[in-house]
Amino acid sequence: MGGQPGFRMTPQRQAVLDAVRDAPEHLTADEVYARVRAELPRISLGTVYRSLEELVHRGLIGRVQGGGAQRRYDRSTDVHCHARCLACGRVDDTDVEGVDLRKLVASRVPGYRVVGCGIELVGYCPRCVKAGHAEPRG
Ligand SMILES: [Zn+2]
Ligand SMILES: [Zn+2]
Repeated sequence: MGGQPGFRMTPQRQAVLDAVRDAPEHLTADEVYARVRAELPRISLGTVYRSLEELVHRGLIGRVQGGGAQRRYDRSTDVHCHARCLACGRVDDTDVEGVDLRKLVASRVPGYRVVGCGIELVGYCPRCVKAGHAEPRG
């Protein structure tokens, strides 16, 4: 079926998928694990990691491209930009004026099959600015 042998939507994968899709924010694997465990107390962190990667591979969820200590997952698989907080690591969706991301993704890179792009603005989120964690610009 569909040329993707070995993939079944198990209860574990479904729970991981639901956790990512239900979250307005961009969750780390640990955060997904914490949420899924409420439903499936016996699931392991390894299963959550593997499920996340399989779901990304299948195009059911996105993975945030860009820096940051931890991988984050995205309920949106559309091309979009992110802003990342340097203090707490939070990631939000954002628009970048004047940049046509779809055009960017359509760019030709010799020898490459381009499948996405990660534009990331970095700075400090409103909560961290308020808490005084922001460094001056530059
Ligand atoms: Zn922050
Ligand atoms: Zn996003």
